[in-house]
Amino acid sequence: MKMPPPPVREHSIESLEPVLDRLEAQGRPFDADFIRSAFEFSAEMHGDQTRRSGEPYLTHPLNVAYILADLKFDQTCVVVGLLHDVLEDTLTSREVLEEKFGVDVAELVDGVTKIGRHAYVRRDQAQAETFRKMILASARDIRVIVVKLADRLHNMQTLEHMSPEARRRISRETLEIYAPIAHRLGMARVKGDLEDLGFYFLYPHQFRELHSKIGEKVKLGKAAAERLRLRFAESLESGGLEAEITFRVKRYYSIYTKLRRQGIDISQLYDYLAFRIITHTVTDTYAALGVVHQNWRPIPGRFKDYIAMPKPNLYQSLHTTVVGEQGQPFEVQIRTREMDLVAEEGIAAHWRYKEGKGSAPAGDLNILWLRQLLEWQQEIKDPRTFLTTLKIDLYPDEVYVFTPKGEVMCFPRGATPLDFAYRVHTDLGHHCSGARVNGKLVPMRTKLANGDMVEIQTNPNRTPSRDWLSFVATSRAKSKIRQWLNSVQKERAVEIGRPLLEKELRKYKVSPRKTFESPRVKAYLEQEGMSTVEDLFSRVGFGKLTARNVVARLLTEAQLASPASSPGPLRRAVSKILPFGAGPILVKGEGDLLAFLAKCCHPVPGEDIVGYVTRGRGVSVHSCECPNVKNLLYNQEREIEVQWARGDEGRYRVSLGIEASDEPGMLARLTEVIAKVDSNITQLEAGTRDPGLGLIDVEVQVKDRRHLEKILAGIRTIPGLIRVERRMGGSRLGGESQP
Ligand code: MN
Repeated sequence: MKMPPPPVREHSIESLEPVLDRLEAQGRPFDADFIRSAFEFSAEMHGDQTRRSGEPYLTHPLNVAYILADLKFDQTCVVVGLLHDVLEDTLTSREVLEEKFGVDVAELVDGVTKIGRHAYVRRDQAQAETFRKMILASARDIRVIVVKLADRLHNMQTLEHMSPEARRRISRETLEIYAPIAHRLGMARVKGDLEDLGFYFLYPHQFRELHSKIGEKVKLGKAAAERLRLRFAESLESGGLEAEITFRVKRYYSIYTKLRRQGIDISQLYDYLAFRIITHTVTDTYAALGVVHQNWRPIPGRFKDYIAMPKPNLYQSLHTTVVGEQGQPFEVQIRTREMDLVAEEGIAAHWRYKEGKGSAPAGDLNILWLRQLLEWQQEIKDPRTFLTTLKIDLYPDEVYVFTPKGEVMCFPRGATPLDFAYRVHTDLGHHCSGARVNGKLVPMRTKLANGDMVEIQTNPNRTPSRDWLSFVATSRAKSKIRQWLNSVQKERAVEIGRPLLEKELRKYKVSPRKTFESPRVKAYLEQEGMSTVEDLFSRVGFGKLTARNVVARLLTEAQLASPASSPGPLRRAVSKILPFGAGPILVKGEGDLLAFLAKCCHPVPGEDIVGYVTRGRGVSVHSCECPNVKNLLYNQEREIEVQWARGDEGRYRVSLGIEASDEPGMLARLTEVIAKVDSNITQLEAGTRDPGLGLIDVEVQVKDRRHLEKILAGIRTIPGLIRVERRMGGSRLGGESQP
C-alpha cells in the first residue's frame, strides 16, 4: 500500500501578494507599505539561507504570515509572522526591530523566539500539561502563541523534508503541546490540522490503514449521507426553519483516538460522518433539534447542550446522534453562524465579534484569561482593539522553571531556589548551600521567574535554619524545614528526658536499662500511642509528661512500695552549658543534662539553687531566693535537684540595685568599694528619681555566695547609702521562654 500524501497540504505561496489579498478580504484597513517593509527586511536578513527542502528560507516566514492572514489575524500578527525568525536565525537585534517596526512588534518577535528555546522533554501526561502552561505563562501576549501556532503549522506542512528522527520528535511535540494549546484557544481548524499532520508523521502505518478504510467507507456511505442531508433539509423546511446543512468526514486523528479509546475496530465505527446544521438564531437551533428528534430516533445519552453550557474554550453547539435509514448512527451538530465561527477559529473569531451580537456564554470557565476575554468582549467598543489588549498574565499565581535535565516544574509565584530544591529531593533542600539561575549564582531568597533554569548546590555540612522559613513559598519546603528543626529539638528533649526518668527509677532501686526493655514499658508505650522508648524520653524532656507520673505507671506496686532511702550516687556529670551560663553546674543525678543559669536571678556558687526542667531547653538553674521560684510559678514536679560543682573558679554576674542620697562622689566610692573586694563592674547605670535620691543599677562579677556577701557588706558601709538589694526576677523561670 502506498503512503498517501500528507492530510493537510496548503498551496505554498511565493510572494507577498496572496498575504495582502487575504488581509484585503478581511475588509479591515491595513498598511500595505508597512507589511511590505517587514517582508523586505526579512528577505534581506535571511539572505541566501535555505530550508531543508532547498527552498529559500524566506518562504517559511512568508507562509506563516499567510496562515495568519488567512486565519483573519491582523496586520501586527502578519508582520510578526514575517519577522518571527530574524532574532533567532539572523544577526538582527531587538533594538533594530524596535527602531524599524515599533515596540509592539519587537516584543512579540522576542516572545516567539523565547518560546522556541524551551525544549520539550517528553516524560508523562503531567509533564506535558505543565509544559503547555509554561508556554502560555511565558508568552505574556496571546498573539505570541497565535504566531507560534502558525509557525508550527507551516513547519508541520513541510515536515517531510526533515530526518525521520526529527519528524518523530517534532510530531510528538505538536501532538502533546501545540495541538492542545490550539484547542484551549478554541482554534479547532488549527488544532485539527496540527493533529492530523502529527498523526501522519508519527504513526505512518496507522494513518495509512485508517486513511484507506475511511476512504472505502465514504465511497459506500456517501450516497446515503447525501439522501439523509436532503431529508434533513425537507423536514426543517416544512417546520419553517431556514438552515444550511453540510456533512463531512471527521478528522483522522479524532477517529483514531476514538477507536483506541473505545477499543473498537474501524469496521465497528459508524459515525465517521458529522452533519452540521447552521441556523440564524439560537431559538432556531433548539427548534431544529426538535425537528431532527421527531423524525429520527436519537441515541440516548448522546445529546449535549453546549449552548447552555459552553466548553471552557467557549465552544457552543448542540450535539446529538440519530439513527439513519440503514440503522447506522450519525452525529449532528446544530449551531448558529457565529457559534460556528467560534468553533472553527476560536480566539480569532472572538476578536472580530461585533458588540452585542452573539450570546456571551457563561458557566464553568476554568481558565482565567477566558473569563477575562469574556468580560472584555462586553466592554470593548471596537472589536479591532480586542487582540491588542490581550496582554495578560495567564497564570498569575504560578511560575514555571526548568531543571538542568529539561523537566518543567510549576511553583507558586514567589517561590525561591530553596522551594525548587525541596521539590526535587528533601536532602537536596536540607543541604542546599546555594543556587544558580540561568548559570548565575544567586542568593537563596531570589524569586524565580518563568523559564528560569535552576541548579542547586549542596554542602553536606549545611543544615536548615529557622530563617529559611521566612522566604520559602511552598508548603512542602516549609513542612520539611519544620520537620528537620523539630527532629533536632526532639534529640535534645531525649537527652534531657532520659536521665530524668533514670533518676526517678533509681529512687526505687530498679535498673533503668532493664525497665526500659521490659514488657510493661512496651504495653505502656502502646497504650499512650508512642512507638519507641525515645518518644517517651522526649515527652518527658519536653515536659509533656513528668518522670514521677511515668514511673508510677511503669513500676509494680511492690517496686513502688520500696523507695530507696537516699538518692543515687552523685556524679560530676554535667558537660553542656548553654552560652549564657558560666562554668559548670552539677545536676544531682545521672548523665548529661543541659543546664544553664536562669537569667532572672543569676545564682552564684555557694548559694542554694534549684533546677527546673524547661520545655526542650534543658534545666534552668535558679537561686532558691528567686521570686519566680518562691512564687511557685512553676509545676513542682519539674523541679530537679542541682548542686554546684566543686573547685569552680567561674565568674558570675549579679545585678544590684542601689538607692542612695544623691551626693557628689557617690559613684566613685561605690567603684572603690567594689574594687577593694576584688570584683569588677560590668555594667552601670545611674539616675535620680526624686530630688536628692540617686538610683544606681550596677552589675558586678562574683565568684560565689560568700564573695557576693562581702560585696554587699562593703557597699552598705558607704555613707549616704539607703538600700542595696540583689535584683532578681523579671523574666520567667526558664529564662526567655515559658517553662
Ligand atoms: Mn519559524
